[in-house]
Amino acid sequence: MCGVIGAIGQGPVIADIVDGLLFLQHRGQDAAGVATFDGTSFRLHKAMGLVREIFDRVDLTHHTGHIGIGHVRYPTIGGGAVDDAQPFMVNSPFGIAMSHNGNLTNFKSLKNELKDKCRRHVSSQCDVEVILNVFADELSRLTTGSNSPPDDPATIDAIFQAVTGTFRRCKGSYSVVAVIAGVGLLCFRDPFGIKPLIYGKRPDGKGTRWMVASESCALVSQNFKVERDVQPGEAILFRTGQPPLPRQVAPSKGHLCIFEFIYFARPDSEIDGISVYKARMRLGSTLARRWEEKDGAEVDAVIPVPDSSRPAAQQMAAKMKRPFREGLLKNRYIGRTFIMPGDANRKKGIRYKLSPVRLEIKGKRVLLVDDSIVRGNTSKAIIQMVRETGAREVHMASSCPALRHPCVYGVDMSTRKEFIARDRTDDEVRVAIGADSLLYQQLDDMVSACRPPNEEGERRFCMACMDGKYPTGDITQAVLDEIESERTVAGSGV
Ligand code: AMP
Repeated sequence: MCGVIGAIGQGPVIADIVDGLLFLQHRGQDAAGVATFDGTSFRLHKAMGLVREIFDRVDLTHHTGHIGIGHVRYPTIGGGAVDDAQPFMVNSPFGIAMSHNGNLTNFKSLKNELKDKCRRHVSSQCDVEVILNVFADELSRLTTGSNSPPDDPATIDAIFQAVTGTFRRCKGSYSVVAVIAGVGLLCFRDPFGIKPLIYGKRPDGKGTRWMVASESCALVSQNFKVERDVQPGEAILFRTGQPPLPRQVAPSKGHLCIFEFIYFARPDSEIDGISVYKARMRLGSTLARRWEEKDGAEVDAVIPVPDSSRPAAQQMAAKMKRPFREGLLKNRYIGRTFIMPGDANRKKGIRYKLSPVRLEIKGKRVLLVDDSIVRGNTSKAIIQMVRETGAREVHMASSCPALRHPCVYGVDMSTRKEFIARDRTDDEVRVAIGADSLLYQQLDDMVSACRPPNEEGERRFCMACMDGKYPTGDITQAVLDEIESERTVAGSGV
């Protein structure tokens, strides 16, 4: 999924960027990077690992720039060397550094087009290198022959037009932050607004410091006051000492990824005006209603699978009037775990991450609540562990409906065979994970739980992984096959 951040102010922004990245770490633990610009030079640092691991051991004092961007990369299968870590840079038509969160669905054809028609070479497997080169190509066509300085109104206009051109050529999902030398900080969100992007401000000496980030928690943590979400199809240019310059450069066809509410985002964030925490609580309420409707089993304890499902489990327990118990403890200090092949290793992996609290499990009928069941390995291993700890019955509820369709927009589930529910009924999934009963969230319940109650007007989400409806309208079987085959070979940082 990845996380992006950008800041511009009167003085150095590196501390805000690195500290802000710590609040986006949940969006990607594989690699991280920053780029700053001081009016003359860009400084770039990227490496594999967690934000703390990377930036605690490097001297950042030479990052004196007043504009900068940062990125955390989501772990991917197979690929993902440091060469693919972000930000990326080009030197022409202006120095531009860029980072994104998202996934291009026409990466390969754009990469070839850039080489064959634009004389631009893309050497990484990272989508943002393509977005950056498409943007630079558009900008260079629009400014060829012009001697205007970078901050001339004609150049500013060309920057917005270049974003329109980027939207026309780049298919898929992407929220982008970029530094343009001599101009400022640019951000834009694709017309479908699948990935979140938000900005805010903070007093800075005699002026204002602006920050853009994937999630509001990064702004709030650095004492920025949230202004608003960047709209789908909108670009905003921030320049030192001037108010932001927003422009709707393409019509908004907003379809925010609903999986942000299920799993990805931090519960203290608000996305497109929706509190993630509240949405998760409502997901628990609807589960409780369905549990009662279907005459679910009597249980002695409702137990969350930490951490994303906790608000839903709490609410479910409250509505069912059953005790909420922390029956599984997560080891917070284990850091990244690796996807290990083989059942024995996988089981060991789960046991490293989660430990059963015997007192809350032994002899009890327990209801485990998880945010989602993707491949089913986690649920299967947890249920087995809970049974071995002495549970009498193990029931399972999932905040998310059954997942059956590949995500082509950046969530790490892009091949059909990854889904346990792909060719199985709910009861067959129950048998496969070894639960006594299984309750999945229903699609329309999920949508109403994620919408703020009493909200007027239309609210559309991307839930293609559940209903197979891809909002961009250009996902053919051939595109799915191509993404799937690329994915099986190597993953790209998203
Ligand atoms: P599994 O069913 O074994 O694939 O694992 C599902 C668990 O992984 C859920 O409990 C989620 O907390 C977590 N999860 C869901 N989606 C993702 C994802 N795209 N990347 C990493 N972890 C995920």
